Amino acid sequence: MFTHTIAQASTESGTHKAELQTKVVQALKPLLPAHALLYQLEDTVPYECDGLTAYRERPLVVALPETEAQVAAVLRTCHALNVAVVARGAGTGLSGGAMPHALGVTMSLAKFNRILKVDPLSRTAVVQAGVRNLAISEAAAPFGLYYAPDPSSQIACTIGGNVAENSGGVHCLKYGLTVHNIHKVKGFTMSGEAIEFGADALDVSGLDLLSVLIGSEGMLAVTTEVTVKLVPKPQLARCIMASFDDIRKAGDAVAAIIAWPQLVLMPLRWF
Ligand SMILES: Cc1cc2nc3c(=O)[nH]c(=O)nc-3n(C[C@H](O)[C@H](O)[C@H](O)COP(=O)(O)OP(=O)(O)OC[C@H]3O[C@@H](n4cnc5c(N)ncnc54)[C@H](O)[C@@H]3O)c2cc1C
Repeated sequence: MFTHTIAQASTESGTHKAELQTKVVQALKPLLPAHALLYQLEDTVPYECDGLTAYRERPLVVALPETEAQVAAVLRTCHALNVAVVARGAGTGLSGGAMPHALGVTMSLAKFNRILKVDPLSRTAVVQAGVRNLAISEAAAPFGLYYAPDPSSQIACTIGGNVAENSGGVHCLKYGLTVHNIHKVKGFTMSGEAIEFGADALDVSGLDLLSVLIGSEGMLAVTTEVTVKLVPKPQLARCIMASFDDIRKAGDAVAAIIAWPQLVLMPLRWF
């Protein structure tokens, strides 16, 4: 009897999911090119998890917008249908942030992959959200500049995902995390309204909402464009290996290196 009830509930929820999927597909079809709307099993399976592979769920639909107008239209429509939208970059996250909602839409920003501007004078780059972290440094390299925050996944992860996770890597000890290296973020709220955080200027008056957005795991806005700070590439880089016979001496050496005057010439917070 109990088993029967579970089986019945599962059939009912399967039917509900199928009906909702049809409704969402019909609503999104006029907004996106056919190749940018995935809902067949074999098309949605690749999106069923991020780097936290222990948890998997297939979304109703995967939307791959190519323009900001399409992002806004998809968000507006899903909001009106009361359907959740989960933004997705490269899916390298390790905390399940990009894991789909079973009754929701996964919005991949993979097609937002253009570097719009590298300005060596202001030491900034304007890039779309789906640009890979390492691609920013590659584009800035001819100017002797690079983007400092360097998660180990930088060959694959996107700047949109970095903003959502406030990602960092080994350079962050000196240059700070993503939050210290971003000027401005453009995107859309979950109801499809355009929104901007930060500014092109070094400092912004009013509440520091950029810092609220960065690290919000995609819950506050879908990022479409990011203005990042670039820093000069070091003139010289050398690896040094040192051995210590005492943990305290090793710790003191690290503290002394961090306190070294030439290192603090590059402030941790670049404002
Ligand atoms: C091998 C490996 C090494 C890693 N090393 C590091 C490391 O050194 N440091 C570190 O911090 N992390 C590391 N990570 C974790 C991961 O790479 C970072 O969190 C990265 O920032 C995720 O970027 P992504 O594009 O893959 O985002 P996803 O995994 O696709 O998404 C992550 C979160 O961001 C949101 N999101 C993605 N794009 C957008 C957008 N455009 N707008 C709004 N929200 C968005 C998603 O909804 C989700 O909540 C590592 C992961 C792996 C697999």
